[in-house]
Amino acid sequence: MIVLIDPLFAQHDPGEGHPERPERIFALLQMLQTFPYRAGIEFMSLRRGSWREVAWVHADRYLDLLKEVSGSRAVLDPDTPTSPNSVDIALAAAASTLAVAERVSDTKRPGFAMIRPPGHHAEADRAMGFCLLNNAAVGAEWALREAGARRVAIIDFDAHHGNGTQHIFYHREDVLYVSTHQFPYYPGSGAMNESGAGRGEGFTVNFPLQAGVGDSAFIRIYEDLVPIILEQYRPDWIFVSAGYDAHRKDPLAQLEVTERGFARVTQSLQRCARDFCDGKILYLLEGGYDLEALAASVSESLKVILQKATLQIDPLAEPRGWKEYIAALRQVHERWRF
Ligand SMILES: [Zn+2]
Repeated sequence: MIVLIDPLFAQHDPGEGHPERPERIFALLQMLQTFPYRAGIEFMSLRRGSWREVAWVHADRYLDLLKEVSGSRAVLDPDTPTSPNSVDIALAAAASTLAVAERVSDTKRPGFAMIRPPGHHAEADRAMGFCLLNNAAVGAEWALREAGARRVAIIDFDAHHGNGTQHIFYHREDVLYVSTHQFPYYPGSGAMNESGAGRGEGFTVNFPLQAGVGDSAFIRIYEDLVPIILEQYRPDWIFVSAGYDAHRKDPLAQLEVTERGFARVTQSLQRCARDFCDGKILYLLEGGYDLEALAASVSESLKVILQKATLQIDPLAEPRGWKEYIAALRQVHERWRF
């Protein structure tokens, strides 16, 4: 597999006490130093960015603002302060996404871009929730424009809803957006009945989850429901907004997922990528704010991606209210035959 990580990503510093801190990259670098299957990984370094690719999904007005604040400290949204290097590093995160995507495309091997700042809250015309540029959206546009893809799926397992990604593709059928997230919670969007509009009707699929749900509901969605959607949609590419803040130790969400839960989710997504899109799958780091939990969870995902761990699909207890949940899904989404 291919992993892109670089200490330069620590140069984006939202300031003292901010949870999306430079140490997140150091925690992953440290984990990788002693990762037992390191020899099976091809490593890549940060690629410097250009404005061309981010203009595929962001408004010129907003990019002009970023050019203006580049080199200084600014507060782009109450949660999203910047340091002098932030705009450069955000551009590099988007460009690095494409660097790995190109390599995945060439080799048909899975990729993981361990980048920051994250991207899924970034709207077409503004920064939001620690995110400056929407890396997953830029990746999906690249696949469609430059890699010959006709359909791209973005799967978002971050504990928060990816409002930016949803909105950017809400009216489109060539990008499917599927998200699990704590709800109701920040950023407020992501109700089950938000399902796309116009030609995009049905191509946004939200799985809102109550605080405290834990592994069983999280895993059931990725093992039982997401493959049903992907089998019918037949994407040419899968981008994963891989946020690890659903972890039970994470300070910013309460979904109570464990490392094992993330491993099972990864295993199911890997199967989907092999079965439906020739192995073209790229994980992009989003959230995950407890450093130990982040490193441990990413490590479990990597073991699964490298096929060093096969997890027993043992039967899971039926989550509370599961039948009602499926019934509600069927009402909103006739297309996917849940
Ligand atoms: Zn998050």
